[in-house]
Amino acid sequence: MNLERRPRRLRASAAMRSLVREHDVRVSSLVQPLFVADDRQPKGEISSMPGIARHSVEGAVAEARALHALGINAVMLFGIPDHKDAEASSAHDPHGVVQRTIRALKRDVPGLVVIADLCNCEYTDHGHCGILDERGDVDNDATLELLGRIALSYAEAGVDVVAPSDMMDGRIGYLRTILDASGYTAIALMSYAAKFASAFYGPFREAADSTPQFGDRRSYQMDPPNGREAVREAILDLEEGADIVMVKPALAYLDLVRAVREISDVPVACYNVSGEYAMVKAAARNGWIDEDRIVDEMLVSFVRAGADVIVTYFAKAFAERSRTKSPNA
Ligand SMILES: [Zn+2]
Repeated sequence: MNLERRPRRLRASAAMRSLVREHDVRVSSLVQPLFVADDRQPKGEISSMPGIARHSVEGAVAEARALHALGINAVMLFGIPDHKDAEASSAHDPHGVVQRTIRALKRDVPGLVVIADLCNCEYTDHGHCGILDERGDVDNDATLELLGRIALSYAEAGVDVVAPSDMMDGRIGYLRTILDASGYTAIALMSYAAKFASAFYGPFREAADSTPQFGDRRSYQMDPPNGREAVREAILDLEEGADIVMVKPALAYLDLVRAVREISDVPVACYNVSGEYAMVKAAARNGWIDEDRIVDEMLVSFVRAGADVIVTYFAKAFAERSRTKSPNA
């Protein structure tokens, strides 16, 4: 027995543990997703995501103000429109729900970074992320054109960051070109570089009313077993000019957060998705787990894996807790 090495020495007290702690979750690195519902859409709490609501534009502004006061630097917007059609035409409406929210946020909470998710699935009547071809598959290049129009409408409204989540090939380069050609060189692109076809998105589809009406998204979102392909997707997006690359979901894909971190010279984000949130909430409501400790452990695992930016529905609750927490806890 060799007891000359005793790692327990550094775990002896709260002060000692705090002294040698390797990673911290910074409130300033968290992004809170916000759902904004158009005039005729229901507002209020989402049943599978307790504590998360669909807001009106005014409600989203009030919530963003509260988040900013807690030290949160960024929100990510998802729209729930009144009108859906096959071409997602309300997605690039200059008076669309996201465009109105961007304008209101930039006017009323000017210090906040406003990120807008860019996809079509909330705006298409078929629920897919792009324009369909005659076989019912998403037409990559026709969808790019549509994404460009939506991105420009966000840019005109004053967005800081456009975050394409559609997983079309070539969209980062396409969007960069379109934005730059219109003078929007300062708008950053946060790419959902490795987005998997995941069952963890279930509650989001209730929240955003975006369930595909037929089929699934496996012809454009990634196959969960593929790690090398995730790195390849990230490299392509970096080459095309992504300013931030994201891995989504987070918990079951931490190896890929690390792998992307290692090849990326830009910030890496991860998205702690709706299903990850709902599982914690459901188990905590049953008294099966300690929610706060689980959340702390999850969030620090993202940092340890290499995430610089964490998109999480727990952002507000974590920030509220950080205000009151003793630093030696
Ligand atoms: Zn989509």
